[in-house]
Amino acid sequence: MKPFIYDYTLEQLQQWMKENGEPSFRGAQLFDWLYVKRAKGFKDMTNLPKALREKLDEQFAFVTLQEITKFESKDGTVKFLFGLHDNHAIETVIMRHNYGNSICVTTQVGCRIGCTFCASTLGGLKRNLTAGEIVAQVVTAQQMLDATGERVSSIVIMGSGEPFENYDATMAFLRIMIHEKGLNIGQRHITVSTSGIVPSIYKFAEENTQINLAISIHAPNDALRSKLMPVNRRFPFEEVMEACRYYIAKTGRRITFEYALIGSVNDRPEHAEELADVLKDMMCHVNLIPVNHVPERDYVRTPREDIFEFQRILERKKINATIRREQGHDIAAACGQLRAKHMESQTR
Ligand code: SF4
Repeated sequence: MKPFIYDYTLEQLQQWMKENGEPSFRGAQLFDWLYVKRAKGFKDMTNLPKALREKLDEQFAFVTLQEITKFESKDGTVKFLFGLHDNHAIETVIMRHNYGNSICVTTQVGCRIGCTFCASTLGGLKRNLTAGEIVAQVVTAQQMLDATGERVSSIVIMGSGEPFENYDATMAFLRIMIHEKGLNIGQRHITVSTSGIVPSIYKFAEENTQINLAISIHAPNDALRSKLMPVNRRFPFEEVMEACRYYIAKTGRRITFEYALIGSVNDRPEHAEELADVLKDMMCHVNLIPVNHVPERDYVRTPREDIFEFQRILERKKINATIRREQGHDIAAACGQLRAKHMESQTR
C-alpha cells in the first residue's frame, strides 16, 4: 500500500523533493496545495510540473474518508462516522461554539485502555491511525466548512483512542496542524487528552509546545481510579500526579483534569473534597463531564444539583472548575457510541 501524503510534515516533503531531484520549494508548494488550497488530488496541483504530479500520484495516496453516516444536532454539532480503506470506521465531531468551530479527532481504531464508562473501548484496539488519517479528519471537516466560509479554529484530541499510545503519529499530526504555512491552527487552541500514560507525559513535557494537555483523572484516589480505569493499574494515581507536577514545572503550563461524573460512583461531596486536596497548589483546572449513559454499563447520570455542588466544593477550596457544556446529546455524540452501533449492525 502507498503511504498517505498527509502523513508528511513540510520538512519531510521538502526532503522528499530533494531526494527526487526537485528544488525544495516544491515541497512548500505541495504543502500549500494540501492545506491552504485543500486540493483533493495531485492532478489539481497545476503549478507543479506534470511529471512531478505523476510521480507523486505513483508514490502516494490521499486518505479517503468515506462518509458512512453524518448526524447533525440541533445545536450545530456534526458527527461523522467515516469508513477507512480497510473497512474500519472512526468518528469525528465538529462542535460549534460562539468562539469558533472545534474538531474532535480520533487517533486509534477502538481503544485498549478500557475506561468503564466509554463505548470506544468495547471492541478493544483494532489499530493505530497514521498521522495522515488523523490529519484527514481535520482537512475533511475544513473542506465541509469551506462551503460556508468557516474555519476550524480549535482541535481537541479526545475522540476514540489513547493519543499517547500512538505518540509519534499524534506528534506528526500536531506539527502539520500548527504549521504557519498550512492550516495554522494556534497551538493554544489545541488540546491533547490522555488517560495518563506516564512516560509519554514526561516526553510531551520536553516537546516545547504551547499545546494544552488534559489528563483524564475521573477519581480522587488510586483505588477508585483503578475501578473506573484499568490503566491506573499500569500507571498508578500517584505516578500520574507526579508526572503532572513535573509537566507543570517544566512547561509553566496549566493542566486540565477531566473528571467524568458518574452517579453515586465518584460524584459524592467527599470525592470533591478529596480531589480538591490532591490538586491543592497545582496549576490546574478541572473540567467536570456528566457521563452519557452507555447502554452496555449500568452507570446513571449525576443529578444536576449534585453536579453544581461538586463544582462548588472544588471552587470553595480554590480549585478552578467548569462543567462541560454538552453538545450533540440528541445524536449520540459521546465517544464511540456511533461506531459501537455501526459495529453492532455489521454483525447482525
Ligand atoms: S475514554 Fe478515551 S482512553 Fe478511555 S477507553 Fe475511551 S477512548 Fe480509550
